[in-house]
Amino acid sequence: MVAVTAQSTVQPSVRSRVSARVAGIAESATLAVDARAKALKAAGRPVIGFGAGEPDFPTPQAIVDAAVAACADPANHRYTPAGGLPALREAIAAKTLRDSGYEVSPSQVLVTNGGKQAVYETFAALLDPGDELLLPAPYWTTYPEAARLAGGVPVEVFAGPERGYKVDVEQLEAARTPRTKALLFNSPSNPTGAVYSPEEVRAIGRWALEHGVWVVTDEIYEHLVYDGVRAASMPVEVPELADTCVVLNGVAKTYAMTGWRVGWLVGPADVVKGVANLQSHLSSNVANVSQRAAVQALTGDLEAVARMREAFDRRRRTMVSMLDAIEGVRCPLPQGAFYAYPDVTALIGRSLRGQEITSSAKLAEIVLAQAEVALVPGEAFGPSGYLRLSYALADEDLVTGVERVQRLLAEVD
Ligand code: PLP
Repeated sequence: MVAVTAQSTVQPSVRSRVSARVAGIAESATLAVDARAKALKAAGRPVIGFGAGEPDFPTPQAIVDAAVAACADPANHRYTPAGGLPALREAIAAKTLRDSGYEVSPSQVLVTNGGKQAVYETFAALLDPGDELLLPAPYWTTYPEAARLAGGVPVEVFAGPERGYKVDVEQLEAARTPRTKALLFNSPSNPTGAVYSPEEVRAIGRWALEHGVWVVTDEIYEHLVYDGVRAASMPVEVPELADTCVVLNGVAKTYAMTGWRVGWLVGPADVVKGVANLQSHLSSNVANVSQRAAVQALTGDLEAVARMREAFDRRRRTMVSMLDAIEGVRCPLPQGAFYAYPDVTALIGRSLRGQEITSSAKLAEIVLAQAEVALVPGEAFGPSGYLRLSYALADEDLVTGVERVQRLLAEVD
């Protein structure tokens, strides 16, 4: 006779179709805004989208050429090691030394399907159920979802425009509990463009070291900095942290390679080994041809990113001065990435074309409907009351789009 346990009597029909774990994930708000703007455009509407988180430049030709050559070589039609091509891991180690002054061995590098996969896998490797992740807010929209999916508990630590959107040690210490396992650190920041100074990085790194808090530091915007500031790398500022620090990075932003899907993590050997095991079951290697393209990118010069930086810098100044000129809008000048993050809290509760501005999400909805301009509301990145505008779009579109916002917001009662 077969024993029937309580568990096996549960009827499939009473179970939810989608697991609670997956049902709890929110759609990426930034991708959703971008998709809505593209759909309206496809329907013939003259929408200007400030939602995209990607450079508007093509990938540099030498990288494309390397990929074309790689396509023709049957060696690249095969699997590579799950953790990445040895040549790419070497190139990443060399680039990490060149750009950050951080000396690592290729065995500490793992190549992922974009920086996004590196985020999720790192959280999966570090967080047990109930472990807390300190998350400075405003944060990139993927961090809390990836942390929750990995079983962790994101704990937001908010820093507003009066602090340049940067948290400090006192705030982090106030949020620390016995369950705190790690801190997510992102400088230059998506969504605010904030860049922590080397002194600030050092202070936070030393605090983390003192309290045994791991640091996951996302450096994907390292080359997009303005006004002569430097993006300091956490394990370089605090070398003793290397054993409890994971650096995330990728080619997407620096080389205009968002579609190629190459990112990586650099960490201590046990974490890298664990992530390699996870990835060997999850996705195996990143597309071989993309990895060859990334080798070309990382072993080449940084001329293309210098040209992009010039364009972004010009657009940044234009956008911020135009936004800051709007009554009720306060826009600090960001020093990195390609986003402006205006504070619109002064507009909440007021009305516009007969509708109450109840939140920044509502404001973004009105702006899309009335001015045909797509913005991402602060709710995607933490507290309401803010908007994110990417300045990775053509100069003329940028001016036209912000002018439309200026004209509309001039009508706020
Ligand atoms: N980290 C940050 C802060 C980002 O903004 C992004 C992309 O928007 C990524 C990581 C991941 O980039 P990708 O997965 O395209 O390499």
